[in-house]
Amino acid sequence: MPISLECQRCAACCRWPGEVRLTDDEVAKIAAFMEMQEPDFIEQHLRLRHDRKGLALKEQANHSCIFLEGGNCAIQPVKPQQCQEFPNRWVNLLWGKVPLEVMRKEYPMLFACSAFKDFLKNPPADT
Ligand code: SF4
Ligand code: SF4
Repeated sequence: MPISLECQRCAACCRWPGEVRLTDDEVAKIAAFMEMQEPDFIEQHLRLRHDRKGLALKEQANHSCIFLEGGNCAIQPVKPQQCQEFPNRWVNLLWGKVPLEVMRKEYPMLFACSAFKDFLKNPPADT
């Protein structure tokens, strides 16, 4: 059965430097949510991905996501799938398959997540 951790909205993942990738559908959905024309939304809030294969959210000067406002996500109802899937996608990919010390070294963002920190206090007995 997949592990399902409940997000505690600590926003650690929104502050972590990285890249939030958007699909074309997500670009349209978030632009509509913000009541913006897509070209304006793209110009103001998006940038080219590092692999140059699509678009990603811009970051603030401190590397936080551009939509992190006062500790909250300004687009919470339409936040990208990548955000919705964290941390559960990672946990289910790695837990029980990759040693904890390797996870800690290679995936430090996971260890900043409040939901995962709580999970580690009482992990499943069979792992
Ligand atoms: S879109 Fe929202 S949930 Fe995703 S990183 Fe930005 S602030 Fe966090
Ligand atoms: S770091 Fe974890 S608990 Fe905090 S907002 Fe992100 S997913 Fe939720």
